[in-house]
Amino acid sequence: MRNEEVLPIMASLLLDDFTLKDREGWEGRIEGGQGRFPDGRASAAIRGRIVTEQLPQNWSGYGSLQFTLHNPWDRAVVGGIELFDGLSLESPELEFGDYVERPKSLLIGEGITHVVIRIDPIQTTQGTRILDLGQVVRVAIRVPEPGEGEQPISIASLRLSPEHEEIDGIAYARPGDSVLVMRHLDISCFTYEPENYREPEDVVRLYRELTLEKEKLQDVIDTAEINGKQTLYARVALVTADIALKSRPNLAWHFSPRAKRSNLSGALSLAREERYNLERLLSSFRHEDDEDDSNLPIPLVKPIPDFKSLKIEGKAFVDTSGKPALVCAMSYHNEGTLLQFFSPERHKLEIYAVGGGSRYDIEWSPVYEAFHNYPGTERVGWRGWCGHLIKDQWAMGGRKENVVICLENQHILEAIDSYNRIHADDWRNDPSLMYVILGYELSYMCYCEDSLRRFREWLSNRHGNIGALNDKWGTEYKDFNEAEPPRTVVFGPEPDANRAAWFDWADWNTRRFTDHLHWSRDSVRKLHPVIPICAGGTHSMISPLNSTTGIDEEMIINEVDDVILHEGNDILSIDLLHALSEKPKPIVDPEHGGRCSRWLLNYFHGKSTLSMFWWPKQPSRQFPNSTLNAPMHGNMDIEFVAEHLRTALDVRRLNEEIAAFWDIPKETAILYSKTNMLQVPPELMNAKSTPFLTALREAYDAARCLDAGITFISEKQLLAGKTDRFKSIILPAVKHLPEAVFEALDRFVRSGGHILVLPESLVRDEYNRPADYLKRWGISVSKVELPEIKGFGEFVQRYDQNLERNVQYGTARKITAAKFHPTMTPWSFRMSGVFQELSISGGEAIAEGPSSEPMLVRVPIGSGVVWYAAGMPEKDSLAELVDRFFTESGIDRPLKVTDEDGRRVSGLEARLVRRRHDDLVYLVNESGRTVDYRIQTDRAIHEIRELRSLKYYKEAAGQIKDGQTLLFSLREDPSVRFQKKK
Ligand SMILES: [Zn+2]
Repeated sequence: MRNEEVLPIMASLLLDDFTLKDREGWEGRIEGGQGRFPDGRASAAIRGRIVTEQLPQNWSGYGSLQFTLHNPWDRAVVGGIELFDGLSLESPELEFGDYVERPKSLLIGEGITHVVIRIDPIQTTQGTRILDLGQVVRVAIRVPEPGEGEQPISIASLRLSPEHEEIDGIAYARPGDSVLVMRHLDISCFTYEPENYREPEDVVRLYRELTLEKEKLQDVIDTAEINGKQTLYARVALVTADIALKSRPNLAWHFSPRAKRSNLSGALSLAREERYNLERLLSSFRHEDDEDDSNLPIPLVKPIPDFKSLKIEGKAFVDTSGKPALVCAMSYHNEGTLLQFFSPERHKLEIYAVGGGSRYDIEWSPVYEAFHNYPGTERVGWRGWCGHLIKDQWAMGGRKENVVICLENQHILEAIDSYNRIHADDWRNDPSLMYVILGYELSYMCYCEDSLRRFREWLSNRHGNIGALNDKWGTEYKDFNEAEPPRTVVFGPEPDANRAAWFDWADWNTRRFTDHLHWSRDSVRKLHPVIPICAGGTHSMISPLNSTTGIDEEMIINEVDDVILHEGNDILSIDLLHALSEKPKPIVDPEHGGRCSRWLLNYFHGKSTLSMFWWPKQPSRQFPNSTLNAPMHGNMDIEFVAEHLRTALDVRRLNEEIAAFWDIPKETAILYSKTNMLQVPPELMNAKSTPFLTALREAYDAARCLDAGITFISEKQLLAGKTDRFKSIILPAVKHLPEAVFEALDRFVRSGGHILVLPESLVRDEYNRPADYLKRWGISVSKVELPEIKGFGEFVQRYDQNLERNVQYGTARKITAAKFHPTMTPWSFRMSGVFQELSISGGEAIAEGPSSEPMLVRVPIGSGVVWYAAGMPEKDSLAELVDRFFTESGIDRPLKVTDEDGRRVSGLEARLVRRRHDDLVYLVNESGRTVDYRIQTDRAIHEIRELRSLKYYKEAAGQIKDGQTLLFSLREDPSVRFQKKK
């Protein structure tokens, strides 16, 4: 007997072999014995989250929890794990991560992944303690649901293993499988014994072919460069070849033969195309405009701008010649191969000046000392997300500790100020910075004594006397000092919060937080006299939770920002932020979490800089979803990886053409109502959307595809009478409006404006009291049908108690117009969802339902017109309605884009800008399918060139793929004009 065999080696303990078909103990969608591993091992098919409390509870002495997964799909996905001990289930902190909560931590590549979760020890998500292995009472495993027609993921051999971070023998691992090891929050994912793996013959051949093709392409590029020709686009194919040959095969989830075939053959065809293209030009088989024998301007990619020479002019950063500079950067890249295509990320810096530190460095900040040395430095009364001030149990990265600060505390303020001074040298003399960010993705709410004192002072200014407040709040306070803001539970106000009081509290909170941002700006201004500053919380502006965040970008942009911070690819909010700015300012995007399909659209809508999040130096330690969204590391096709590099070059080459769209006329505004962002039923705050936000988005999406510029108007701007440049205004379910704002709208329409009202609008004031605004326009609503709000169960009836009206909850009313006014050509006009039974005095019905119920009415008011929709039109009907509304309001539209049959295409956005010798027209297809298009303008067209491909077109028509962006120059030949004159 050999020595090791007599040692008492602990064996693995099988918790579940997944062979029993209808096994009890697991909840969720699990079918024992139905899994499909290629080697036929016993396994279960699972979908979504499965959970059990029936496993042995004493895990002491084991090093890891292990199991094996089989992913039958052609993509990597992300799953998760949850472990609860006895203390977790009893814990008042359960909701705040007092268990191992890693719902998005398992990177599951195509094929087989052996999962090893180190349990000895493993920290809870809150980070305050180690999981008690003596009593593990609940285990949950989470995998994505299969797509339509797809097999589910399979799981085999759930077990406890004596190994800590190694796979054990029960895994039956083979070379080429993936291994995923989790240690606390961190994961490693790698290929098992790649050196012992044998590639299939065809993959070996592809490697060889691409290696050869890359050499040939390099030779042609060298030749072109000897001739002085720019070769940046061809270099994209070189980099792509390296990604397929060298980079992606390093990643376990790109190791499968299928992934390699796809990566190698994709890169091969790109390299071939670029080589042929260059060869033809070099041999004179084909000529380009930029040949030596013409004087045409050469469409070249410009060098990366010299950041220190840029100046702000209106919406643009301009270079010394006054031309707009557009910056397209890749996050974390300041050197290396990608800088052929992208600007360095270090054109901007977040300096954490709002809270005096970040989750990564707070322990070294004076704020940390103050936080631990003084009482009253902790945020009070609100346990929602920390809003980056500074970190809580959900904060990504950094050491685990809840440090959530109160911004009213003097010790904290002094510490922030000294943090800013200490760190000034990190950025003060950096010539590469175009701007600094005080902080972003911010939100804040605090109920400390100082907050309450300031709030009451503000209430007294707003309401004047306590009686006026009592009227609005429905309270009986004797003094402002008694006024209490509604309290919060977890993420929002209590379900039965006083909604009038919440409105004032949330409104004041935006004032308070903007004041703090302004203070932070001053703290930084002392350190640098001119560097452009910004701060913000972009997403809060379109979030149902806005009233808990303290974010009002209208205040921030006008009181804090030199440049406007917009994060992400949402164009509605780009247009919104531009609109909220009293004077034009550049928009910058420090963290663009979207792929390149929307980059050009973002620039067309007025973005000056963009830094894509992300192309990491290595896969993420904690967030596999981020890894899978990264171009090189993630799931995207290799052709699409290359498209990112080409788009970055297009942005640099077409800077002037893009910026030309920034000032096209915008004659229609959609009302962005702060009142309806703050006055939201508490139950709806954690929903995906509110009726106002849904209607805002639907109205915007309909209006943006009608060939005319659109924008937004705020309540503040309405009150200031800034309506002159608008012919029409759209009201998207603005249920609540202050009297004065309604009066401003009334003045706009009486003086000749057109207003389109989408339901439910104008029925209550900002304090949730009934308002008679509609009656003043001759519209009465006798009955309202509301669709049930999904997912709110018992809350449904409380969602909106309009006791004075007859409200029915139920399935939505679907209704199609049966009759139209003689002046209106009939169309398929359908509504579903909220529906109001209307009667009008003074106007006429434009469309009526089958029982002659008015669906759309037109009421003349003064010298203007109000269009009122009784229900919410379906998507296509809304687009058609807004199209007709634009025409009747006299919106100037020199451009019309339709399909081959002359019909508009929803999701196809186009704009025109007129120049001396050509019209520029961009076309972006977001319809979800390939579509035919035809462009019509009111100007002669003699030559058509698409400026991204530089191809000439015979006619202004063709096909555009889903997600594609085209930019046309429709040229008028001046000589034709002169010949006509003869
Ligand atoms: Zn406070």
